[in-house]
Amino acid sequence: MKNIRFLILLLSLPCLVIGQSHSHTGAQALSYPDIEGYVTLKTDLHQHTVFSDGNVWPNIRVQEALRENLDAISLTEHLEYQPHKEDIPHPDRNRSYQIALEEAKAHDLLIVHGSEITRSEPVGHSNAVFITNANPLLAEDAASPFVEAKKQNAFVFWNHPAWYAQRPKGNPILSDFQKERIKNGELHGIEVINTFDYSEESLQIALDNNLTIMGTSDIHGLIDWDYTEKGMHRPITLVFSKNRSLEGLREALFKGQTVAVYNDLLVGKEEYLRPLIKASVVIKEVSYLPKTSILKVTLENISSSDLLFENNMPYSFYSKPPLFTIEAGKTLDLQIKTLDIKDKINLELKAMGAYTAPKVHPVISWEIKVD
Ligand SMILES: [Zn+2]
Ligand SMILES: [Zn+2]
Repeated sequence: MKNIRFLILLLSLPCLVIGQSHSHTGAQALSYPDIEGYVTLKTDLHQHTVFSDGNVWPNIRVQEALRENLDAISLTEHLEYQPHKEDIPHPDRNRSYQIALEEAKAHDLLIVHGSEITRSEPVGHSNAVFITNANPLLAEDAASPFVEAKKQNAFVFWNHPAWYAQRPKGNPILSDFQKERIKNGELHGIEVINTFDYSEESLQIALDNNLTIMGTSDIHGLIDWDYTEKGMHRPITLVFSKNRSLEGLREALFKGQTVAVYNDLLVGKEEYLRPLIKASVVIKEVSYLPKTSILKVTLENISSSDLLFENNMPYSFYSKPPLFTIEAGKTLDLQIKTLDIKDKINLELKAMGAYTAPKVHPVISWEIKVD
């Protein structure tokens, strides 16, 4: 009996050793290309755990992020709303961050220190990220958490402006309180995508007030249950940073260098959205079909978003409608009727799943050389 137990122990040891250094990257790992001059960081800076009204321990958030191949996350517990505090007493509002930081130690994941400042309308909810201490942000009045966040050099964004629990018509309105915060340099960004909702009105507010465009999951349950098993990804913010570091990420957020992504939906300023989509589509093969002036071009989508395009060229397609999708990670052949044999053309496509303003799609151009 003893020997058998020993044998089982021996057999299980290698697994334990391997377990120390194994990768958590799952089948749902996200991938987006870098753009010229920047590293593309995949982030979700709005999440909850049992340290506010979420349902999981902070280590699960770290493991979920590793499975989805994210670069940075923030656990932004409600400072004021603490439904589990009887069961999990924690006078220190930094605990969630500290536990996540400990969990991430052995892994290549950036943990951003954050908190959700929680008020009813017209103040609403805001996330302060890159804080140094959450406790002083806890206050009775509405304005002092923002003053304190600024003192800590935090990046602050307005959460779910269109949330129907606070906005029954789903129409966000920038309040005088928020206008004051923007004027004081205390509010820097806005969620245009939160959970499952993309708000065109929030995008317009971002553009009108030069706020950084954000997309976040605001996850309370499990990423697997809410997104992955439905064949979806969580909303994320791609941040174009000079390097893969917390300081680079912080600086890029303040400069508004982002694109919010939710599956096949991409929302951002043209100067970042255009190079992102351009880099996401790689031209693989170019040749004329024998004895024709029909140019066959093979395109590969190296991003994790299905890309929906409309032909924006004077030339039409053979065997393909003008509106088509290149699925994430897949290739697609276009047959372009160029009428004459050309040695180069500009492939020009309108990205129909991408928005630089409400109802405005960017046009992307690739120069194609024919050998
Ligand atoms: Zn909230
Ligand atoms: Zn939240």
